Amino acid sequence: MSVYCPVCKSDQLQKVYPSFSGTCVTSDMMVLPGASLDNRLCTACGLIFNAGGTRGWSESFYKDSYSLMMKTADAAIQSFSGPAPISQAERTHQILREMIELPGRGAILEIGAGKGDFLGYFLQQSGDWRAAAFEPSAAFAVLKERFPEASIQRCDYKDFDAGPAKFDLLVALGVLEHVEDPFDMLRWAHRHLGDNGLFYIRVPNFAKNPNDLFCADHLSKLTIHSLTALARAAGFDVVASKEAGVPIFVLLRKNDRPELLTNVVADNRIILDKNVVVAKNAMDAIFRSHEAAKAGGGPFAIFGLGSSGLFAPFYFGFDAAEVAAYLDENRSTWGSDIHGRIVGGLDKIKELGIRHVALAISPVYFEQVKAKLTPYEVQVYSA
Ligand SMILES: [Zn+2]
Repeated sequence: MSVYCPVCKSDQLQKVYPSFSGTCVTSDMMVLPGASLDNRLCTACGLIFNAGGTRGWSESFYKDSYSLMMKTADAAIQSFSGPAPISQAERTHQILREMIELPGRGAILEIGAGKGDFLGYFLQQSGDWRAAAFEPSAAFAVLKERFPEASIQRCDYKDFDAGPAKFDLLVALGVLEHVEDPFDMLRWAHRHLGDNGLFYIRVPNFAKNPNDLFCADHLSKLTIHSLTALARAAGFDVVASKEAGVPIFVLLRKNDRPELLTNVVADNRIILDKNVVVAKNAMDAIFRSHEAAKAGGGPFAIFGLGSSGLFAPFYFGFDAAEVAAYLDENRSTWGSDIHGRIVGGLDKIKELGIRHVALAISPVYFEQVKAKLTPYEVQVYSA
């Protein structure tokens, strides 16, 4: 079957590591049996995308099964890029306020608002704004209860009914990388904004997140090059962008002169080539620590809940029970489990006699985490 680029429809695609069929994992740490990783680079526009994964059934996937951080009511992704760990939603809100001063009144629409963590911070400061949001997953119920005065719908963006209303600010946090065609969503946003309306976006920056090659539901591996080219072609100016840890934040302003789509393949290929090396090394690190443990060197653990560590048992075909534990710094994950293996803090190293630790995190955190592991005298495996 021919594969086409979801954005520019070209069939001039290069295959990208890894090519895999079988059990895959999602950004939500879900296990997807019978899925595939079919990563491609479009040489006509530069988009890096997974032609497999949840593509083709993503709408039902989000409606029925996507449960990001729904496990406990107060579970949230933490941001470690600031001076003190604060919630990702709070940091995201702070960055928007640093990027622009907003008027006292307006209308905001959040796309895929989850449980409304960002919207909560936003309305705390801009209480006179009219708020609307939609969310396809079960998080909708939480959202609806939390914002009784807002207009909330349970749907996908394609089914959202805005009526005649135009918005002053659209927000999409961790959404664009999940949709089948990010360009389509940008053009959709353009239609729902008033003149000079703003679109605030947060996505994982693929340049900082090589292990995203193993993630089945991040259908696009977005870079600042792709984002900028797609935004301009959809009729936006880039007002500001900021990289902070893995996420990248972009603020766009609607204009009335869409440009032709620029081919960013040269810039993206540089990132991709580098990332493929790092991703292979990440898998190799897990392979080596697993081998060391198997050879009688004592138990091994995987640090971080990144896609490489979750995917490795399926990729290599070893039993996840051989992983002594998954270690993570985010306390809200402690006590939960991955493939039946406990998730805990560094105290698990002593408790379980762990001798080998493979890092399954973004390379931007390697040095920081290696320093933290030093007192534990374990063998650390990284890229
Ligand atoms: Zn393309």
